[in-house]
Amino acid sequence: MSDCLFCKMVAGVIKPEVVFEDENVLAFRDINPQAPVHVLVIPKRHVATLNDLGGHEMAGQLMLAATTIARQEGLAEDGYRVNINCNKKGGQEVYHLHLHLLGGRQMTWPPG
Ligand code: AMP
Ligand code: ZN
Repeated sequence: MSDCLFCKMVAGVIKPEVVFEDENVLAFRDINPQAPVHVLVIPKRHVATLNDLGGHEMAGQLMLAATTIARQEGLAEDGYRVNINCNKKGGQEVYHLHLHLLGGRQMTWPPG
């Protein structure tokens, strides 16, 4: 997907602040952080939304990467939030699947 912002990051055309990378997953700091730690975890393969997730493998890779990064960022014990926005009413703005990892402050509920 040559016109996809996050695919450009996977391709190295745009260089975000990467905090984690493996064969399947890339994670980088959000440009407009909503918490002291705000990391986006994306599959390297383009998938537009959570609805397009084919099977459990990619879901597991993203979720496990999030827990690794949470430990790396020192969030695991105090706690953190993992969030996926899907489509318009879910508040999705970038149509390449991504998981938000937020931490470093007290989260509130319900979310906005
Ligand atoms: P969502 O609303 O769930 O689609 O989230 C998209 C996220 O991507 C937002 O939190 C943006 O701040 C973030 N974002 C947009 N452009 C960039 C960028 N160039 N680098 C890092 N994060 C970005
Ligand atoms: Zn993409």
